Amino acid sequence: MRPRLSVVAPCFNEEEGLPEFCRLVEEACITTVGTSFEIVLINDGSRDGTWNVMSNIAANKSRVVAINLSRNYGHQIALTAGLHACRGERILIIDADLQDPPELLEQMMALMDEGAEIVYGQRRKREGETLIKSWTAAIFYRLLRKLVDIDIPLDTGDFRLMSRRALDVLNSMPEQSRFIRGMVSWIGLKQVPLLYDRQARFAGSTNYPFSKMLRLAFDAITGFSIMPLRLASYLGVAMGCASMAMIGYSLLSWAMGSAVAGWTSMMTMMLLIGSTQFLVLGMFGEYLGRMYMETKRRPLYVVDSVAGNIAVAPAMSAPQHRLMAS
Ligand code: UDP
Ligand code: MG
Repeated sequence: MRPRLSVVAPCFNEEEGLPEFCRLVEEACITTVGTSFEIVLINDGSRDGTWNVMSNIAANKSRVVAINLSRNYGHQIALTAGLHACRGERILIIDADLQDPPELLEQMMALMDEGAEIVYGQRRKREGETLIKSWTAAIFYRLLRKLVDIDIPLDTGDFRLMSRRALDVLNSMPEQSRFIRGMVSWIGLKQVPLLYDRQARFAGSTNYPFSKMLRLAFDAITGFSIMPLRLASYLGVAMGCASMAMIGYSLLSWAMGSAVAGWTSMMTMMLLIGSTQFLVLGMFGEYLGRMYMETKRRPLYVVDSVAGNIAVAPAMSAPQHRLMAS
Protein backbone atom coordinates (compact mmCIF):
# COMPACT_ATOMS: atom_id res chain seq x y z
CA MET A 1 0.00 0.00 0.00
CA ARG A 2 1.16 3.52 -0.72
CA PRO A 3 2.17 5.70 2.21
CA ARG A 4 0.10 8.87 2.35
CA LEU A 5 3.15 11.07 1.95
CA SER A 6 6.63 10.86 0.49
CA VAL A 7 9.21 13.53 1.24
CA VAL A 8 11.94 13.70 -1.40
CA ALA A 9 15.18 15.56 -0.70
CA PRO A 10 18.31 15.57 -2.86
CA CYS A 11 21.50 16.02 -0.85
CA PHE A 12 24.93 17.18 -1.89
CA ASN A 13 27.48 17.77 0.86
CA GLU A 14 24.87 18.10 3.58
CA GLU A 15 26.43 15.98 6.34
CA GLU A 16 26.21 18.68 9.02
CA GLY A 17 22.57 19.56 8.57
CA LEU A 18 21.09 16.20 7.62
CA PRO A 19 20.23 14.80 11.11
CA GLU A 20 18.45 18.03 12.06
CA PHE A 21 16.68 18.07 8.70
CA CYS A 22 15.41 14.51 9.19
CA ARG A 23 14.27 15.27 12.71
CA LEU A 24 12.25 18.32 11.63
CA VAL A 25 10.78 16.62 8.57
CA GLU A 26 9.78 13.60 10.63
CA GLU A 27 8.11 15.87 13.17
CA ALA A 28 6.17 17.69 10.47
CA CYS A 29 5.10 14.39 8.89
CA ILE A 30 3.93 12.89 12.16
CA THR A 31 1.75 15.90 12.96
CA THR A 32 0.14 15.85 9.52
CA VAL A 33 -0.17 12.21 8.45
CA GLY A 34 0.73 10.13 11.50
CA THR A 35 3.01 7.26 10.58
CA SER A 36 2.00 6.79 6.96
CA PHE A 37 4.99 8.49 5.31
CA GLU A 38 8.42 7.86 3.90
CA ILE A 39 11.44 10.12 3.56
CA VAL A 40 13.49 9.53 0.43
CA LEU A 41 17.00 10.96 0.58
CA ILE A 42 19.23 10.97 -2.47
CA ASN A 43 22.94 11.32 -2.14
CA ASP A 44 24.09 13.12 -5.26
CA GLY A 45 27.73 12.07 -5.22
CA SER A 46 28.63 14.11 -2.13
CA ARG A 47 32.30 14.60 -1.39
CA ASP A 48 31.86 14.71 2.39
CA GLY A 49 30.36 12.16 4.79
CA THR A 50 26.77 12.68 3.63
CA TRP A 51 26.34 9.06 2.56
CA ASN A 52 27.54 7.73 5.92
CA VAL A 53 25.19 10.00 7.81
CA MET A 54 22.34 9.21 5.45
CA SER A 55 22.73 5.45 5.47
CA ASN A 56 23.00 5.48 9.27
CA ILE A 57 19.75 7.36 9.53
CA ALA A 58 18.11 4.92 7.10
CA ALA A 59 19.39 1.97 9.14
CA ASN A 60 17.88 3.39 12.32
CA LYS A 61 14.60 4.70 11.01
CA SER A 62 12.33 2.41 9.07
CA ARG A 63 10.63 5.30 7.27
CA VAL A 64 13.80 6.71 5.77
CA VAL A 65 15.05 5.46 2.41
CA ALA A 66 18.52 6.48 1.26
CA ILE A 67 19.56 6.32 -2.38
CA ASN A 68 23.16 6.70 -3.39
CA LEU A 69 23.82 7.93 -6.91
CA SER A 70 26.96 6.83 -8.67
CA ARG A 71 28.30 10.38 -9.00
CA ASN A 72 27.22 14.01 -8.84
CA TYR A 73 24.48 14.43 -11.44
CA GLY A 74 23.23 17.81 -10.26
CA HIS A 75 20.17 18.79 -8.26
CA GLN A 76 17.54 18.24 -10.95
CA ILE A 77 18.60 14.71 -11.86
CA ALA A 78 19.08 13.72 -8.22
CA LEU A 79 15.58 14.95 -7.53
CA THR A 80 14.29 12.98 -10.52
CA ALA A 81 15.86 9.81 -9.13
CA GLY A 82 13.99 10.39 -5.86
CA LEU A 83 10.74 11.13 -7.65
CA HIS A 84 11.01 7.86 -9.57
CA ALA A 85 11.66 5.91 -6.39
CA CYS A 86 9.06 7.39 -4.03
CA ARG A 87 5.71 5.65 -3.56
CA GLY A 88 3.51 8.09 -1.66
CA GLU A 89 0.05 9.34 -2.57
CA ARG A 90 1.35 12.87 -2.13
CA ILE A 91 4.91 13.97 -2.64
CA LEU A 92 6.74 16.81 -0.97
CA ILE A 93 9.86 18.07 -2.75
CA ILE A 94 12.15 19.90 -0.37
CA ASP A 95 15.81 21.01 -0.17
CA ALA A 96 17.87 19.25 2.47
CA ASP A 97 19.42 22.48 3.79
CA LEU A 98 16.30 23.61 5.69
CA GLN A 99 15.89 26.69 3.52
CA ASP A 100 12.37 25.45 2.85
CA PRO A 101 10.59 25.15 6.21
CA PRO A 102 9.11 21.65 6.72
CA GLU A 103 6.46 23.14 9.04
CA LEU A 104 4.66 24.43 5.95
CA LEU A 105 3.67 20.86 5.14
CA GLU A 106 0.48 21.16 7.16
CA GLN A 107 -0.74 24.20 5.22
CA MET A 108 0.23 22.60 1.92
CA MET A 109 -1.70 19.46 2.78
CA ALA A 110 -4.72 21.59 3.70
CA LEU A 111 -4.61 23.38 0.36
CA MET A 112 -4.45 20.04 -1.38
CA ASP A 113 -7.42 18.76 0.61
CA GLU A 114 -9.30 21.71 -0.84
CA GLY A 115 -8.66 20.41 -4.34
CA ALA A 116 -5.23 21.64 -5.41
CA GLU A 117 -3.20 19.19 -7.43
CA ILE A 118 0.08 21.00 -6.82
CA VAL A 119 0.94 23.46 -4.03
CA TYR A 120 4.16 25.37 -4.72
CA GLY A 121 6.11 27.47 -2.28
CA GLN A 122 6.55 31.01 -3.53
CA ARG A 123 9.25 33.09 -1.84
CA ARG A 124 8.29 36.33 -0.26
CA LYS A 125 11.85 37.10 0.75
CA ARG A 126 15.17 35.31 0.90
CA GLU A 127 17.33 35.39 3.97
CA GLY A 128 21.04 34.80 4.13
CA GLU A 129 21.55 35.03 0.40
CA THR A 130 23.84 37.47 -1.29
CA LEU A 131 22.43 40.45 -3.12
CA ILE A 132 23.89 39.08 -6.35
CA LYS A 133 22.09 35.76 -5.89
CA SER A 134 18.70 37.35 -5.25
CA TRP A 135 19.15 39.82 -8.11
CA THR A 136 20.28 37.24 -10.64
CA ALA A 137 17.40 35.01 -9.55
CA ALA A 138 14.89 37.86 -9.89
CA ILE A 139 16.17 38.85 -13.35
CA PHE A 140 16.28 35.24 -14.50
CA TYR A 141 12.70 34.42 -13.50
CA ARG A 142 11.41 37.54 -15.21
CA LEU A 143 13.39 36.91 -18.40
CA LEU A 144 12.20 33.32 -18.48
CA ARG A 145 8.61 34.49 -18.27
CA LYS A 146 9.13 36.60 -21.38
CA LEU A 147 10.73 33.77 -23.33
CA VAL A 148 8.52 30.77 -22.71
CA ASP A 149 4.88 30.24 -23.51
CA ILE A 150 3.92 28.38 -20.36
CA ASP A 151 3.20 30.16 -17.12
CA ILE A 152 6.16 29.51 -14.82
CA PRO A 153 5.42 31.28 -11.53
CA LEU A 154 7.88 33.92 -10.32
CA ASP A 155 10.26 33.33 -7.40
CA THR A 156 9.44 29.67 -7.10
CA GLY A 157 11.92 26.89 -6.59
CA ASP A 158 11.28 23.18 -6.47
CA PHE A 159 9.73 23.26 -2.97
CA ARG A 160 6.22 21.90 -3.57
CA LEU A 161 3.65 19.30 -2.71
CA MET A 162 2.34 17.24 -5.63
CA SER A 163 -0.39 14.69 -6.05
CA ARG A 164 0.45 11.19 -7.29
CA ARG A 165 -1.43 11.95 -10.49
CA ALA A 166 0.69 15.03 -11.23
CA LEU A 167 3.88 13.16 -10.35
CA ASP A 168 3.02 10.31 -12.72
CA VAL A 169 2.79 12.84 -15.53
CA LEU A 170 6.12 14.39 -14.54
CA ASN A 171 7.73 10.96 -14.38
CA SER A 172 6.45 10.22 -17.87
CA MET A 173 8.60 13.00 -19.34
CA PRO A 174 11.77 11.34 -20.52
CA GLU A 175 13.86 14.39 -21.37
CA GLN A 176 17.48 14.54 -20.34
CA SER A 177 17.94 18.22 -19.57
CA ARG A 178 15.39 18.74 -16.86
CA PHE A 179 14.06 22.00 -15.48
CA ILE A 180 11.61 20.45 -13.08
CA ARG A 181 9.71 23.54 -11.95
CA GLY A 182 9.01 24.39 -15.61
CA MET A 183 7.97 20.83 -16.39
CA VAL A 184 5.57 20.90 -13.45
CA SER A 185 4.07 24.17 -14.70
CA TRP A 186 3.67 22.56 -18.11
CA ILE A 187 1.42 19.88 -16.57
CA GLY A 188 -1.26 22.43 -15.70
CA LEU A 189 -4.10 21.15 -13.46
CA LYS A 190 -4.90 23.14 -10.35
CA GLN A 191 -1.67 24.67 -9.05
CA VAL A 192 -1.79 27.05 -6.11
CA PRO A 193 0.98 29.08 -4.44
CA LEU A 194 1.79 29.20 -0.75
CA LEU A 195 3.78 32.29 0.18
CA TYR A 196 6.69 31.82 2.55
CA ASP A 197 9.93 33.45 3.66
CA ARG A 198 12.98 31.55 2.56
CA GLN A 199 15.30 30.86 5.47
CA ALA A 200 19.07 31.04 5.55
CA ARG A 201 20.86 27.72 5.22
CA PHE A 202 20.98 25.69 8.45
CA ALA A 203 24.54 24.46 7.80
CA GLY A 204 27.10 24.28 5.04
CA SER A 205 27.16 26.59 2.04
CA THR A 206 25.35 26.80 -1.26
CA ASN A 207 26.08 24.09 -3.81
CA TYR A 208 24.74 26.19 -6.62
CA PRO A 209 27.69 28.23 -7.77
CA PHE A 210 27.23 30.61 -10.68
CA SER A 211 28.19 27.95 -13.23
CA LYS A 212 25.46 25.55 -12.08
CA MET A 213 22.92 28.37 -12.01
CA LEU A 214 23.85 29.31 -15.54
CA ARG A 215 23.42 25.72 -16.66
CA LEU A 216 19.98 25.59 -15.05
CA ALA A 217 19.06 28.86 -16.75
CA PHE A 218 20.12 27.47 -20.15
CA ASP A 219 18.19 24.24 -19.55
CA ALA A 220 15.16 26.32 -18.66
CA ILE A 221 15.31 28.58 -21.70
CA THR A 222 16.27 25.97 -24.28
CA GLY A 223 13.96 23.37 -22.76
CA PHE A 224 10.88 25.50 -23.12
CA SER A 225 11.61 27.94 -25.89
CA ILE A 226 13.08 28.00 -29.37
CA MET A 227 13.29 31.78 -29.16
CA PRO A 228 17.10 31.88 -29.48
CA LEU A 229 16.86 30.01 -32.79
CA ARG A 230 14.05 32.22 -33.95
CA LEU A 231 16.23 35.29 -33.39
CA ALA A 232 17.99 34.52 -36.70
CA SER A 233 14.68 34.97 -38.54
CA TYR A 234 14.05 38.29 -36.84
CA LEU A 235 17.60 39.44 -37.56
CA GLY A 236 17.18 38.38 -41.19
CA VAL A 237 13.99 40.40 -41.56
CA ALA A 238 15.52 43.44 -39.86
CA MET A 239 18.65 43.20 -42.01
CA GLY A 240 16.53 42.74 -45.13
CA CYS A 241 14.69 46.00 -44.41
CA ALA A 242 17.91 47.85 -43.65
CA SER A 243 19.44 46.46 -46.84
CA MET A 244 16.57 47.75 -48.94
CA ALA A 245 17.14 51.23 -47.56
CA MET A 246 20.90 50.98 -48.16
CA ILE A 247 20.39 49.68 -51.70
CA GLY A 248 18.08 52.64 -52.39
CA TYR A 249 20.72 54.99 -51.04
CA SER A 250 23.55 53.49 -53.12
CA LEU A 251 21.42 53.53 -56.27
CA LEU A 252 20.62 57.17 -55.60
CA SER A 253 24.31 58.00 -55.15
CA TRP A 254 25.07 56.18 -58.40
CA ALA A 255 22.35 58.09 -60.26
CA MET A 256 23.66 61.39 -58.93
CA GLY A 257 27.13 60.39 -59.99
CA SER A 258 28.63 60.76 -56.53
CA ALA A 259 29.52 57.07 -56.06
CA VAL A 260 32.91 55.55 -56.83
CA ALA A 261 32.64 53.11 -59.76
CA GLY A 262 31.83 49.59 -58.56
CA TRP A 263 30.72 50.67 -55.10
CA THR A 264 27.00 50.46 -55.80
CA SER A 265 27.02 46.96 -57.23
CA MET A 266 29.31 45.72 -54.48
CA MET A 267 27.18 47.20 -51.73
CA THR A 268 24.02 45.77 -53.28
CA MET A 269 25.47 42.29 -53.56
CA MET A 270 26.88 42.32 -50.06
CA LEU A 271 23.66 43.46 -48.48
CA LEU A 272 21.52 41.03 -50.43
CA ILE A 273 23.74 38.07 -49.65
CA GLY A 274 24.05 39.02 -45.99
CA SER A 275 20.37 39.37 -45.34
CA THR A 276 19.47 36.29 -47.36
CA GLN A 277 21.90 34.27 -45.31
CA PHE A 278 20.22 35.35 -42.11
CA LEU A 279 16.81 34.55 -43.51
CA VAL A 280 17.91 31.07 -44.52
CA LEU A 281 19.56 30.53 -41.14
CA GLY A 282 16.30 31.57 -39.57
CA MET A 283 14.42 28.99 -41.62
CA PHE A 284 16.87 26.34 -40.48
CA GLY A 285 16.29 27.49 -36.95
CA GLU A 286 12.55 27.11 -37.29
CA TYR A 287 12.84 23.51 -38.44
CA LEU A 288 15.63 22.66 -36.03
CA GLY A 289 13.58 24.10 -33.19
CA ARG A 290 10.59 22.00 -34.10
CA MET A 291 12.69 18.88 -34.45
CA TYR A 292 14.21 19.59 -31.06
CA MET A 293 10.82 20.00 -29.45
CA GLU A 294 9.60 16.81 -31.13
CA THR A 295 12.53 14.74 -29.92
CA LYS A 296 11.42 15.40 -26.35
CA ARG A 297 8.49 13.01 -26.85
CA ARG A 298 6.46 14.63 -24.15
CA PRO A 299 2.86 13.59 -23.81
CA LEU A 300 0.81 15.95 -25.96
CA TYR A 301 -1.60 16.92 -23.23
CA VAL A 302 -2.78 15.99 -19.79
CA VAL A 303 -6.43 15.23 -19.15
CA ASP A 304 -7.70 16.72 -15.91
CA SER A 305 -11.07 15.09 -15.64
CA VAL A 306 -13.77 13.57 -17.82
CA ALA A 307 -17.49 14.09 -17.37
CA GLY A 308 -20.19 11.80 -18.57
CA ASN A 309 -19.75 8.42 -20.08
CA ILE A 310 -16.89 8.95 -22.50
CA ALA A 311 -14.05 6.49 -22.52
CA VAL A 312 -10.95 8.65 -22.79
CA ALA A 313 -7.55 7.18 -22.21
CA PRO A 314 -5.39 9.95 -20.74
CA ALA A 315 -2.37 10.58 -22.93
CA MET A 316 0.26 9.49 -20.51
CA SER A 317 2.96 7.03 -21.33
CA ALA A 318 4.21 4.71 -18.63
CA PRO A 319 6.84 6.25 -16.38
CA GLN A 320 10.27 5.65 -17.77
CA HIS A 321 12.66 4.78 -15.05
CA ARG A 322 15.73 5.24 -17.06
CA LEU A 323 17.42 8.28 -15.66
CA MET A 324 18.87 6.38 -12.78
CA ALA A 325 20.49 4.02 -15.22
CA SER A 326 21.66 6.46 -17.84
N1 UDP B 1 22.02 19.62 -4.52
C1 UDP B 1 22.19 18.38 -5.17
N2 UDP B 1 23.17 18.27 -6.13
C2 UDP B 1 23.96 19.34 -6.51
C3 UDP B 1 23.74 20.58 -5.86
C4 UDP B 1 22.75 20.69 -4.89
O1 UDP B 1 21.52 17.40 -4.85
O2 UDP B 1 24.81 19.17 -7.38
C5 UDP B 1 20.97 19.73 -3.47
C6 UDP B 1 21.42 20.35 -2.16
O3 UDP B 1 21.90 19.39 -1.28
C7 UDP B 1 20.14 20.99 -1.66
C8 UDP B 1 19.43 21.38 -2.94
O4 UDP B 1 19.98 20.59 -3.97
O5 UDP B 1 19.33 20.06 -0.96
C9 UDP B 1 19.57 22.87 -3.27
O6 UDP B 1 20.93 23.20 -3.35
P1 UDP B 1 21.55 24.51 -2.67
O7 UDP B 1 20.97 24.69 -1.30
O8 UDP B 1 23.02 24.41 -2.74
O9 UDP B 1 21.04 25.64 -3.64
P2 UDP B 1 20.50 27.09 -3.22
O10 UDP B 1 19.46 26.90 -2.18
O11 UDP B 1 21.69 27.84 -2.73
O12 UDP B 1 19.94 27.62 -4.51
MG1 MG C 1 19.74 25.94 -0.48
